[in-house]
Amino acid sequence: MKHCKKCETDKQVSEFHTNRNAKDGLQAYCKSCMNASTKDYYQTEQGKLKIKNGVKKKAESGYYRYGKGAITILEQGAKKRNLPFRLTEDELTNWWKKTPDKCYYCSIDLNDYIKLRDAIINYYDNDFDIVKYKTFFKSSKHKAIKCMTIDRLQNENGYELNNIVKSCWICNKLKGDFFTAQQIKQMTPEFIKKLIEKLNLPSISLKNRDEITSDSR
Ligand SMILES: [Zn+2]
Ligand SMILES: [Zn+2]
Repeated sequence: MKHCKKCETDKQVSEFHTNRNAKDGLQAYCKSCMNASTKDYYQTEQGKLKIKNGVKKKAESGYYRYGKGAITILEQGAKKRNLPFRLTEDELTNWWKKTPDKCYYCSIDLNDYIKLRDAIINYYDNDFDIVKYKTFFKSSKHKAIKCMTIDRLQNENGYELNNIVKSCWICNKLKGDFFTAQQIKQMTPEFIKKLIEKLNLPSISLKNRDEITSDSR
């Protein structure tokens, strides 16, 4: 038994976290008191700031795109779909860095994609062709996508280096688990061109489309 100095209760040793620096190798406060004080800390302004900075730092380092954060998220998605997952953090990071920030399907580059995304999000008129794409950006999570996403070429295959491409969120969403990569490649450039015209964004062009579509994949 050990006495917790916070709640003043005698508890089993297993109710305390270890602390290598302490004489008895245990924390002074019991687990539930420790949890409560951590929770309280993250409710304070200082604690909130710490979380915010931590998230920002991780985002800046690309953690959520291709670091451990991405691995965890992709792996969960694979599990849900019962797909194999054969990527390490290093493989994914290297692949992400050397792959141009351009959609494999429609060939839009990242800056143009962000322009298009913002135009769709901020569209408040009633053109049905545009409005239907707004549903792709319904959640704040989807609105926040500022990078290319990782898509699997063959829907039935899992995450491995020869089965992943960078895709804009629009193509990724359109493809879902229903269309093949080839179908999406044929369809989405036309869809996106139409969107660009309707939203009157002449600065966006799907330049090297032919170069990309001639790729044999
Ligand atoms: Zn306690
Ligand atoms: Zn695309």
